[in-house]
Amino acid sequence: MMFSKQTLIGATLPLLARAKIPQTWAGRIKGRGVILTFHHVRPERESGFSPNALLEVTPEFLKTILDVLEEIGFSILLLDDVPHALQQEGPPFAVLTFDDGYRDNRDHAWPILKARDCPWTVFVTTDFASGRGRLWWRELEEVIRRQEVLELSEPSLPSRLALRTDKEKKQVFQILYWHLRHQSEEHLRTFISRLAQNAGINPDHLVQDACLTWDELKALARDPLITFGAHTLTHPMLAKHNEDCVRHEMRESQRIIEEKLNVPVRHFAYPVGDPTSAGTRDFSLAKESGFTTAVTTRPGPLFPEHQNHLHALPRISMNGLYQTPQAVRALLSGLPFLFWNRGRKVNVA
Ligand SMILES: [Zn+2]
Repeated sequence: MMFSKQTLIGATLPLLARAKIPQTWAGRIKGRGVILTFHHVRPERESGFSPNALLEVTPEFLKTILDVLEEIGFSILLLDDVPHALQQEGPPFAVLTFDDGYRDNRDHAWPILKARDCPWTVFVTTDFASGRGRLWWRELEEVIRRQEVLELSEPSLPSRLALRTDKEKKQVFQILYWHLRHQSEEHLRTFISRLAQNAGINPDHLVQDACLTWDELKALARDPLITFGAHTLTHPMLAKHNEDCVRHEMRESQRIIEEKLNVPVRHFAYPVGDPTSAGTRDFSLAKESGFTTAVTTRPGPLFPEHQNHLHALPRISMNGLYQTPQAVRALLSGLPFLFWNRGRKVNVA
């Protein structure tokens, strides 16, 4: 999913990668550890119109990330270890998390992580594992990819948008994406559903193509290095929904994953996860629902102060637009987040 902050982070990374950080600051801004966010891991595909490319990294880049973590002395921990690790002095730690339950995680990330004995976490959206649901950002991408023109009847948007070139397609994606992100979830889903139907796209087929089924997840669950977390039933932006809905999305997804995979589910990831999708009410509900930790997509490293905010943990997204060792080093230095979080270590408001 697009995040304006992520884009900003990516855009300034090359600059920050070259910055020299005074030793006296380094410890203070780096924090105790990081939780890294991944979505797709797969070989590079065609360039051109690929508006969701920031959500995918290549298997080679995953190896680069693991190399850089090792080179700077990060140990890779389980999400279960985080509360304790935040209290300890010692080498920095990294936790690897993969959202949504994509099949390419099994095909391309698993062999690499297994070969290096790295623990990792998959956050499962139960509808996706059941072969249904709405990868609405992918539906929007396909709607725009497959058509030459888009007819709309939405106040405040043009009634006709040309989609002849990749440049036009990219622009239209950004306009529609951000227009819809500011509306209610129901409006976003209905609007994209109508466009998908007109373009002959079946949302369930996109899910079935991309996401691991329960049987496939069961096979992964036999690997003791993999932790399973909950990522709701339907992948809603929780902050836009009422309390009962949020509680249901959290608790039912936890219960279903535990039942289907026969593993304990102690961790939760907020879908989309930015401040417009997960706020203080949702952090309280995740805590009340009994999760040990819950992770956002608010960017930043983990500081000892996060011991008191285990249900609003920041993560660092491994952005597919900046797949270089320099970008990884810059992100792990913590320096970008000192600026983007305006000096605050904990950003939970
Ligand atoms: Zn997600």
